[in-house]
Amino acid sequence: MKVLVINCGSSSLKYQLIDSESEKALAVGLCERIGIDGRLNHTPAGGEKVVMEAPMGNHEAAIKMVLDALTDNNHGVIKSLSEIGAVGHRVVHGGEKFASSVVITEEVIAAIEECNDLAPLHNPANLIGIRACQAIMPGVPMVGVFDTAFHQTMPPKAYLYGLPYEYYEKYKIRRYGFHGTSHSYVAKKTLDLTGLDTNNSKVIVCHLGNGASITAVLNGKSVDTSMGFTPLEGLIMGTRSGSIDPAIIEFIANKEGKSIEEIMNILQKKSGVYGMSGVSSDFRDLEAAADSGNEKAKIAKEVFIYRVARYIGSYAAAMNGVDAISFTAGLGENDMKVRASVLSYLEFLGIKVDTEKNNTRGKEIVITTDDSKVKVCVIPTNEELAIARETVALL
Ligand code: AMP
Repeated sequence: MKVLVINCGSSSLKYQLIDSESEKALAVGLCERIGIDGRLNHTPAGGEKVVMEAPMGNHEAAIKMVLDALTDNNHGVIKSLSEIGAVGHRVVHGGEKFASSVVITEEVIAAIEECNDLAPLHNPANLIGIRACQAIMPGVPMVGVFDTAFHQTMPPKAYLYGLPYEYYEKYKIRRYGFHGTSHSYVAKKTLDLTGLDTNNSKVIVCHLGNGASITAVLNGKSVDTSMGFTPLEGLIMGTRSGSIDPAIIEFIANKEGKSIEEIMNILQKKSGVYGMSGVSSDFRDLEAAADSGNEKAKIAKEVFIYRVARYIGSYAAAMNGVDAISFTAGLGENDMKVRASVLSYLEFLGIKVDTEKNNTRGKEIVITTDDSKVKVCVIPTNEELAIARETVALL
């Protein structure tokens, strides 16, 4: 079956057409500036990237352009739309309602809408994508795959905050966790690569990209994760602060005369390694600056790495041990220096890194020596393939 995977943002839309038998992407692309002017980047497998500038008034117009590109005589990859057997949608927040992927029905749409409050930037955009696909491809089955679903196995001791319990009861304020599709995919791959038995396994997955989170996966199930009520909690990220003392918000508000909205914007978009260094949210720029003697870039890197190591240590405690640790996403897959620095904190766990094997990029590999007590892996994530798999499995 050919599955169209859609990841819809407020003004962008990423897509991949995946052949579920070969598990290969037939085409990948991105619509940007939807509702502003509109640009489509489309790359057929093995072909050149095609850039098309054309007005995209809304997401429906964007999806029409995607479908035209997929069926185009020159850069298309299918003859007709009837070849698309299903659509898999990434949905950011499923609240407590969705502990797994679901076939999209009107009831499901209503339930996703109820979670809009919890992810006001993401869920409405995901729903727009679903509605637009339904309008253009009526009758094609669609599946929703939630970023939060994998973490619904967390026990209350991991998901409750130290707040009055009524806030959980009234508003469902609790930790949800995100990047679940990636954590689940990488955890499974880790078991395959290391030969661990799912039912007797303690795995820690480090998804280190622009957004970053770490998950403790016990016997194949998420038991704790670093992101919380929103994706702001936890690690220091490209532009997000990660966890801070909440009293800082009031302190800055008073000192700088800023509103809560302004401070939240700072915590989301102007903090993290970008805010700390004043250089960039991209680790490549940060490392270049640090190497050329920029002290703020050096300390931003150090704080990021230290916190990753602390989370890994605490998750080893949460599971009473750890068999394997995996690194994934832009930074985790590509940056051998960051991996080595994180792991240098964890020698007490009996981790022995094979420097040559760690000198690797974007490929599935165990980077520890044979006598290392904990296996450490690099595993490229593939959220789109995971969504396509879920879609086919459900249908
Ligand atoms: P992601 O959000 O998964 O796309 O990851 C994006 C981040 O990965 C970027 O901001 C970079 O900091 C990092 N990254 C990507 N490629 C490399 C690389 N070759 N070396 C170091 N960092 C990288």
